[in-house]
Amino acid sequence: MKLLVIGGGAAGMSAASKAKREKQEIEVNVLESGNFVSYAQCGIPYYLSGVVEKPESLVHYPITEFVENRHIGIMTDKSVDKVNFVEKKIHLKGGQEISYDILVIATGASPRKNQFYGMKNVFFIRSLDGAIEIRKHLHGNNIAIVGDGILGMEIAAELSIHGKSVTMYSKHSSLFPMVDSRITSDMIDYFKKKIEVKLNSLVEDIHENGETLRVTDSNGTILHHDHVIFATGIIPNTKFLEGSGIKIDETGLIVVNDEMKTSIENVYAAGDCATSFNRITGGHEWHPLAQVANKMGRVAGSNIAGKIMHYKGALGTTLVKLFDYEVGFTGLTMEKAIKNGFNPGEIFVQGLSRAKYYPGGSQVKLLMVYDHDTGKILGAQICSKDGGAWRLNTLETAIYSGMDMETLFYNDLGYTPPFSQVWDPIITGASLSMRD
Ligand SMILES: Cc1cc2nc3c(=O)[nH]c(=O)nc-3n(C[C@H](O)[C@H](O)[C@H](O)COP(=O)(O)OP(=O)(O)OC[C@H]3O[C@@H](n4cnc5c(N)ncnc54)[C@H](O)[C@@H]3O)c2cc1C
Repeated sequence: MKLLVIGGGAAGMSAASKAKREKQEIEVNVLESGNFVSYAQCGIPYYLSGVVEKPESLVHYPITEFVENRHIGIMTDKSVDKVNFVEKKIHLKGGQEISYDILVIATGASPRKNQFYGMKNVFFIRSLDGAIEIRKHLHGNNIAIVGDGILGMEIAAELSIHGKSVTMYSKHSSLFPMVDSRITSDMIDYFKKKIEVKLNSLVEDIHENGETLRVTDSNGTILHHDHVIFATGIIPNTKFLEGSGIKIDETGLIVVNDEMKTSIENVYAAGDCATSFNRITGGHEWHPLAQVANKMGRVAGSNIAGKIMHYKGALGTTLVKLFDYEVGFTGLTMEKAIKNGFNPGEIFVQGLSRAKYYPGGSQVKLLMVYDHDTGKILGAQICSKDGGAWRLNTLETAIYSGMDMETLFYNDLGYTPPFSQVWDPIITGASLSMRD
């Protein structure tokens, strides 16, 4: 049996490795349009800022590990531009065709491009190949970041920490609206001290002006920058499948079931190019996140080898470090809970990360959404300079397992002064909900 995987990222390499590990007799080959497979895209901001010095440090396993030890064929610099599902063949840019018995499509996503794509010193971030190119040119000190989503905020903070002068262009009226402002207010105050923030601002024109870029925004403000980095969203890499007959949703995602099967027999899809679903609502969603991609790939590979696994959905759990702040969210917001027919309540807690007598603590700002009818916790958002990440992941685990607030209250979290208060903000939040 010949398994062909398109895309050597998290999902593709997980699928290839799992299928081969479970069933040695499968012939597995991976086609990758770039020069790297199996690397940490999530480390790219840290490579751009210089925290990570060498691009190779982001590679999980070298190609030789796959070829020599796992007996998986890897073909880099091979871009698939068409698939013929009837003849079971893929077509490569340049003309070559390769046949398969089973296909995994794991082509990920790409930055949303605009009219400035391709201009000198204007960058869009996605791949390690691209990041290497960007770092080669990122010598200027004055950098504009366009887009205040997770990636834009992360890169802005990282570059600022490492000595660049950064301007953030946001189309929103308040910065970083994806997290409730009650949670992020301290972080945003700090961010604005370090980074010049332009709100309600769309970049309308970029002009090369000698060695710098002259940027005009929708308010008529003109600034000069050495580089402009766009972080204005991503789109799934599925254009090459247009007209192929495979089911694709209105946003361009390949529709899969919980076994990662697509609408075409013997064709699987996984990762950022495929649909996911919400663990709580069951609704069809997009979760372009590293762990989700790895798990979807694992499920696809296992099913291909005949060991049936079912993907169980995700909560869209997102964590980001912005300066010293650990910011994250998971599950449903109030708005989404209402839309999905819940009777939600919201608890806002402001507490301390450590016993108040123990040095080094910080504020923890926590928002929890729960259902009045069942008591179940539905969502959480957090921001803290100390232990925000572990608290968010604790809450994610509670939500994922369908825990109610009373059980969360009685949950036996470990306590010691350097790590929390006796009544950690998580327990305080659960306790407050029980008074409702
Ligand atoms: C800068 C950055 C930071 C991130 N940080 C985080 C984070 O902190 N936490 C988190 O959870 N997620 C993060 N993500 C998202 C995470 O990296 C992705 O969700 C994950 O990599 C998706 O894996 P994938 O295998 O679906 O796609 P990818 O890893 O993108 O792999 C897809 C591969 O397919 C190849 N390909 C595409 N089209 C073709 C074609 N036609 N033919 C052949 N090959 C093709 C691509 O070159 C690519 O290597 C980040 C992403 C970026 C870009």
